[in-house]
Amino acid sequence: MAVSQKHFPKRDAILQQLRQSKAHPSAETLFQLLKPEIPDLSMGTVYRNLNIFRQQGLVISVATVNGVERFDGNTAPHVHFICDDCGAVIDLESMEIPDSLPRAAESCMGGQVSGCNLSFNGKCKNCI
Ligand SMILES: [Zn+2]
Ligand SMILES: [Zn+2]
Repeated sequence: MAVSQKHFPKRDAILQQLRQSKAHPSAETLFQLLKPEIPDLSMGTVYRNLNIFRQQGLVISVATVNGVERFDGNTAPHVHFICDDCGAVIDLESMEIPDSLPRAAESCMGGQVSGCNLSFNGKCKNCI
Protein backbone atom coordinates (compact mmCIF):
# COMPACT_ATOMS: atom_id res chain seq x y z
CA MET A 1 0.00 0.00 0.00
CA ALA A 2 1.32 3.40 -0.97
CA VAL A 3 -0.37 5.36 1.77
CA SER A 4 2.23 7.26 3.74
CA GLN A 5 0.07 8.72 6.49
CA LYS A 6 -0.20 6.25 9.31
CA HIS A 7 -3.78 6.92 10.33
CA PHE A 8 -5.45 6.26 7.04
CA PRO A 9 -5.08 2.49 6.72
CA LYS A 10 -6.82 1.98 10.08
CA ARG A 11 -9.54 4.43 9.20
CA ASP A 12 -10.05 2.74 5.84
CA ALA A 13 -10.03 -0.73 7.36
CA ILE A 14 -12.75 0.20 9.85
CA LEU A 15 -14.93 1.80 7.19
CA GLN A 16 -14.41 -1.08 4.77
CA GLN A 17 -15.24 -3.68 7.40
CA LEU A 18 -18.43 -1.82 8.26
CA ARG A 19 -19.47 -1.47 4.62
CA GLN A 20 -18.84 -5.16 3.92
CA SER A 21 -20.86 -6.32 6.88
CA LYS A 22 -24.59 -6.91 6.77
CA ALA A 23 -24.66 -7.62 10.51
CA HIS A 24 -24.73 -3.98 11.68
CA PRO A 25 -21.79 -4.51 14.04
CA SER A 26 -21.08 -2.69 17.28
CA ALA A 27 -17.78 -0.89 17.89
CA GLU A 28 -16.70 -3.90 19.96
CA THR A 29 -17.51 -6.36 17.14
CA LEU A 30 -15.60 -4.25 14.62
CA PHE A 31 -12.65 -4.18 17.00
CA GLN A 32 -12.69 -7.99 17.37
CA LEU A 33 -12.91 -8.46 13.58
CA LEU A 34 -10.07 -6.06 12.82
CA LYS A 35 -7.70 -6.82 15.68
CA PRO A 36 -6.08 -9.87 14.01
CA GLU A 37 -5.28 -7.76 10.93
CA ILE A 38 -4.25 -4.64 12.87
CA PRO A 39 -2.55 -5.75 16.10
CA ASP A 40 -2.01 -2.22 17.41
CA LEU A 41 -5.65 -1.24 16.98
CA SER A 42 -7.34 0.09 20.11
CA MET A 43 -11.00 0.40 21.06
CA GLY A 44 -10.47 4.15 21.34
CA THR A 45 -9.42 4.33 17.69
CA VAL A 46 -12.53 2.40 16.64
CA TYR A 47 -14.83 4.68 18.68
CA ARG A 48 -13.10 7.83 17.48
CA ASN A 49 -13.33 6.85 13.83
CA LEU A 50 -16.96 5.74 14.12
CA ASN A 51 -17.79 9.16 15.56
CA ILE A 52 -16.01 10.92 12.69
CA PHE A 53 -17.71 8.69 10.10
CA ARG A 54 -21.09 9.45 11.62
CA GLN A 55 -20.43 13.18 11.60
CA GLN A 56 -19.36 12.93 7.96
CA GLY A 57 -22.47 10.95 7.08
CA LEU A 58 -20.46 7.88 6.02
CA VAL A 59 -22.14 5.57 8.51
CA ILE A 60 -25.33 5.63 10.52
CA SER A 61 -26.12 4.53 14.02
CA VAL A 62 -29.00 2.09 13.52
CA ALA A 63 -30.14 1.32 17.02
CA THR A 64 -29.07 0.55 20.53
CA VAL A 65 -29.67 -3.17 21.09
CA ASN A 66 -29.30 -4.48 24.66
CA GLY A 67 -27.46 -1.28 25.54
CA VAL A 68 -24.97 -1.57 22.67
CA GLU A 69 -24.94 0.87 19.77
CA ARG A 70 -24.99 -0.75 16.30
CA PHE A 71 -23.69 0.79 13.10
CA ASP A 72 -24.53 0.53 9.42
CA GLY A 73 -22.23 1.31 6.49
CA ASN A 74 -25.25 1.51 4.20
CA THR A 75 -26.52 5.07 4.51
CA ALA A 76 -29.30 4.76 1.92
CA PRO A 77 -32.72 4.76 3.62
CA HIS A 78 -33.77 1.21 4.35
CA VAL A 79 -35.97 -0.63 6.80
CA HIS A 80 -34.55 -2.69 9.68
CA PHE A 81 -35.79 -5.52 11.81
CA ILE A 82 -34.30 -5.96 15.27
CA CYS A 83 -34.63 -9.28 17.08
CA ASP A 84 -35.53 -8.88 20.75
CA ASP A 85 -34.00 -12.27 21.58
CA CYS A 86 -30.67 -12.60 19.76
CA GLY A 87 -30.10 -8.92 18.96
CA ALA A 88 -29.78 -9.51 15.20
CA VAL A 89 -30.26 -6.36 13.12
CA ILE A 90 -31.53 -7.37 9.69
CA ASP A 91 -32.05 -5.26 6.54
CA LEU A 92 -35.51 -5.67 5.07
CA GLU A 93 -34.16 -5.06 1.61
CA SER A 94 -37.34 -5.67 -0.33
CA MET A 95 -39.33 -3.22 1.80
CA GLU A 96 -39.49 0.38 0.70
CA ILE A 97 -40.28 3.38 2.82
CA PRO A 98 -43.34 4.84 1.10
CA ASP A 99 -43.10 8.53 0.07
CA SER A 100 -46.38 9.13 1.84
CA LEU A 101 -44.70 8.53 5.20
CA PRO A 102 -42.39 11.59 5.29
CA ARG A 103 -45.22 13.67 3.76
CA ALA A 104 -47.52 12.55 6.55
CA ALA A 105 -44.86 13.44 9.14
CA GLU A 106 -44.46 16.89 7.60
CA SER A 107 -48.17 17.59 7.65
CA CYS A 108 -48.26 16.52 11.30
CA MET A 109 -45.67 19.03 12.44
CA GLY A 110 -45.46 21.56 9.61
CA GLY A 111 -41.69 21.23 9.14
CA GLN A 112 -39.46 19.47 6.69
CA VAL A 113 -38.36 15.84 6.90
CA SER A 114 -34.79 15.08 5.80
CA GLY A 115 -34.49 11.47 6.93
CA CYS A 116 -36.43 8.49 8.14
CA ASN A 117 -35.50 5.69 10.49
CA LEU A 118 -37.91 2.82 10.26
CA SER A 119 -37.40 -0.36 12.21
CA PHE A 120 -39.51 -3.24 13.38
CA ASN A 121 -38.74 -5.46 16.30
CA GLY A 122 -39.82 -8.89 17.44
CA LYS A 123 -38.36 -12.37 17.01
CA CYS A 124 -36.31 -13.26 13.94
CA LYS A 125 -36.90 -16.56 12.13
CA ASN A 126 -34.11 -18.24 14.11
CA CYS A 127 -35.73 -17.28 17.41
CA ILE A 128 -39.43 -18.08 16.87
ZN1 LIG B 1 -33.22 -13.69 16.76
ZN1 LIG C 1 -29.03 -1.72 7.53
